[in-house]
Amino acid sequence: MLNIVLFGPPGAGKGTQSAKLIEKYHLVHLSTGDIFRANIKGETELGKLAKSYMDNGQLVPDAVTINMLQSEADKHPDAKGYIFDGFPRTHAQAQALDEFLATKNTGIFMMLALEVSEDELRIRLTERAKVSGRPDDADPIIIQKRIDVYNAETMPVKGYYQAQNKYQGVNGIGSIDSIFEALCTEINKGVFNS
Ligand code: ADP
Repeated sequence: MLNIVLFGPPGAGKGTQSAKLIEKYHLVHLSTGDIFRANIKGETELGKLAKSYMDNGQLVPDAVTINMLQSEADKHPDAKGYIFDGFPRTHAQAQALDEFLATKNTGIFMMLALEVSEDELRIRLTERAKVSGRPDDADPIIIQKRIDVYNAETMPVKGYYQAQNKYQGVNGIGSIDSIFEALCTEINKGVFNS
């Protein structure tokens, strides 16, 4: 299976690039942020719980997130591969993902990381707030909190995949198409070498 983790800070462009990658490689898109937002919209218990964390720029607890991710993945038993977008965001999530995929006799093929400076992230998220309607984009203090949480809890996940020789960084600044091309180049190189 072609299982890819698309990694990067809030506002790096993971959602935009995931949409293009799933189309090209026929993968299933699993975005934990999107799934939480769908639950908030549907006013489910999970949505209510997630909202209390998301609106404050905090991570939803690992156990809740991991369970949800696994049950979403299990809805697509015939997938050729998954793009994990916004997951794993902690070391515990990365470990759980490896264990989960091992039960399906598969694993992570590659972590692709969109590298974007913090100044650029703040600009992008402030712009996105005008159209996204997301409460967590609307407040500069919450934006900063998300960036801080990313640096403290999510950045270390990079080392987890580097230790497995699966990490590949890509410049996340440029046109959508040029970044997409750079991502495809890395995927194709990986496929060729495997
Ligand atoms: P962004 O990358 O712009 O922050 P996401 O849609 O990926 O947007 O995530 C929005 C929020 O959803 C996060 O700030 C967090 O509260 C919650 N969330 C998403 N994915 C996870 C995860 N893997 N673990 C914990 N919380 C998560």
